[in-house]
Amino acid sequence: MDWTPNSWQQFPILQQPQYPDAQTHAEVLKQITQQPPLVFAKESERLKQQLADVAMGKAFLLQGGDCAESFRDFSANQIRDTLKVILQMAIVLTYAGRKPVVKVGRIAGQFAKPRSSDIETREGLSLDSYRGDIVNATDFTEAARTPDPERLLKAYHQSTATLNLLRSMVQGGMADLHQVSRWNLDFVQGNEQCARYQELARQIQDTLDFMEVCGVTSETHPALSRTDLYTSHEALLLDYEQALTRQDSFSGQWYNCAAHMLWIGERTRQLDGAHIEYMRGIHNPIGVKIGPNMQADELMTLIDRLNPENEAGRLTLITRMGADTIGDKLPGLARRVASEGRAVVWSSDPMHGNTVTSGNGFKTRSFDAILKEIQNFFKVLKAEGQHPGGVHLEMTGAHVTECLGGSYHVSEADLENCYRSQCDPRLNAQQVLELAFNVADCLR
Ligand code: PEP
Ligand code: MN
Repeated sequence: MDWTPNSWQQFPILQQPQYPDAQTHAEVLKQITQQPPLVFAKESERLKQQLADVAMGKAFLLQGGDCAESFRDFSANQIRDTLKVILQMAIVLTYAGRKPVVKVGRIAGQFAKPRSSDIETREGLSLDSYRGDIVNATDFTEAARTPDPERLLKAYHQSTATLNLLRSMVQGGMADLHQVSRWNLDFVQGNEQCARYQELARQIQDTLDFMEVCGVTSETHPALSRTDLYTSHEALLLDYEQALTRQDSFSGQWYNCAAHMLWIGERTRQLDGAHIEYMRGIHNPIGVKIGPNMQADELMTLIDRLNPENEAGRLTLITRMGADTIGDKLPGLARRVASEGRAVVWSSDPMHGNTVTSGNGFKTRSFDAILKEIQNFFKVLKAEGQHPGGVHLEMTGAHVTECLGGSYHVSEADLENCYRSQCDPRLNAQQVLELAFNVADCLR
């Protein structure tokens, strides 16, 4: 069947806000259609090639960032610190794995959230659920929870400003390998992870000094001083995504130009639904979340639908099964994908299958469960002769206390100290660094 950027409108759709003011909504979408794209098709193709290397076991994917970006916590420092933890984790993984790490942020557009219920009820009052700052606000009042179309434009502009700063930082010197020791965040200083990191930074510095004597410098090898950071988000609000879907003037193909990579969440990947229809037609690299209930036949149909040409790098399967479940559920799926010769990237989201409510009422996750899911992911895929290709994390450079545990021992009582996430709990920089060293052990 023919695909167009709006053909998804003929299919059943879940998880969309209902705007009371339909006319303003339509006007805003029209304005967004006239805005410049955030990314360029060639960049998405370049990412696809790098993901093809991941599919073939020659590289590793690190995808991470906020569960949901927020209007409130938007600042240059916050963007810089998120970039720092991504760069820091990437260097630990590169050093251990001796393979390039493809860096993809959940950033510059990761606003919209699927919810388990459309309505939230507190003390007898029922209001729309919070669906991310691109839709409504968290306060539990009717005004805050009413979907406001102007937020689409605000999210678009925040995304462009975020991406602009990221591009300057990764190309303009912050990603310079000579700066490795400066990617450490202040609050991580002085503990065991920090000492381990500083030792690694010292080894890299020694190598760079030696190479410089041999004539290899940032001037002769610009790759030493800059890197690529790609952007991604969940393609949830399809009318917004459609407004930023553009035809490449060189190839004539359609791309989502709001991010380099898009993924479909566990709640919106119905085979006959609107989200699959939209995703099959864009030429970006895409991901699909795979929960514990996925069946092998369903997965094969999904792969056929989304990657009929079996193009390596096009499709990333992001498993989010739970630390204790992945060992039972993943082997059958991995075996089937391999036996049918499908080129996919396998990536582990160890966050969404391990969410619990703490005794004092916070939505949280434990560091140990997160690590265990990743270790089991590596174990299963290695046993099946497949490449454990990447990890997909909710993390931040901010000094938050949202996930439990780690060597810094965030306890249930600590959660209230600095719980800023408006949606799911994120690993803080300290926990990310500790996780990085543990994932590095899996890569060796
Ligand atoms: C998410 O990535 O924030 C998310 C909602 O994930 P999932 O679709 O896997 O639940
Ligand atoms: Mn989340």
